Amino acid sequence: MQTRRGRFAPSPTGPLHPGSLLAALGSWLFAHRGGGEWWLRIEDVDRIREVPGAAGEQLATLTAFGFVHDGPVARQSDRDALYAEALDCLLAAGHAFECHCSRSAVEAQGGIHRACIPGLRRSDPSIRLRVPDGCLVEFDDLVHGRCSQRVDLDVGDFVLRRADGCWAYQLAVVVDDGAQSMTDVVRGADLLDSTPRQVLLQRLLDLPTPDYAHLPLLVDAHGHKLSKSTSAHPVDRGDPLPALHAAWLQLGQEKFAASPQATSQEWLHDAVARFDPARIPRVPHMELS
Ligand code: GLU
Repeated sequence: MQTRRGRFAPSPTGPLHPGSLLAALGSWLFAHRGGGEWWLRIEDVDRIREVPGAAGEQLATLTAFGFVHDGPVARQSDRDALYAEALDCLLAAGHAFECHCSRSAVEAQGGIHRACIPGLRRSDPSIRLRVPDGCLVEFDDLVHGRCSQRVDLDVGDFVLRRADGCWAYQLAVVVDDGAQSMTDVVRGADLLDSTPRQVLLQRLLDLPTPDYAHLPLLVDAHGHKLSKSTSAHPVDRGDPLPALHAAWLQLGQEKFAASPQATSQEWLHDAVARFDPARIPRVPHMELS
């Protein structure tokens, strides 16, 4: 039988905050419940949003929280050749095309690209995926059940390589999940509506579709996602247990009494034996601070 393999894939845009801890813990629990592996990937394709030193900080925090990863830590910035190869395949098969439209021209047409605006020319074209008319993608999410999206109507032809030369997240994540043989993709529900694009790319690149589970997002009192790059407080590396316990409850899991002397690794060991994915809520979780 194939070994189950999950991953946590933070973007190095700041220190880990409670929302990223929730994704780290959720992905770790899903991977370990069946004795699978848990890998780490630093998603640093977006050089503009990257904060120097953030990746190292994130790895140190994960270690302090007791998370031990399998496999080497992958960095997307080392993997250009893989993304280029996938892009070449899509271009050669006619699934991708060079696009000279400006962002403002696409915005003026409602923000959804269905055809290039004639006559536009730029020195730095982007590359987009050609999404066929009537493109309905369906998949089963372990938390949200059956999900579907008309990718042509809701998203349109989406970018694979940006005008500034950076790889788009959608392409990089699909190539990496495929190349690293991921069977479980567990992450925040803000990425639920990216998943149909990723499933579509998997089909075009002849890659298997992993199992997906999208976890509740932590939101502020206004319903906005608490993210690394906004005002969320980083988790306290010096005191992991309270933050782990809070994330456990946000995953809808039943309270359990851990010894206050427990190490975070002992806590994780106890938690995985009690983990019940069926309890994970579908709705966002409000973080009051
Ligand atoms: N890099 C993304 C983030 O930090 C996660 C992507 C994924 O898990 O597919 O939000």
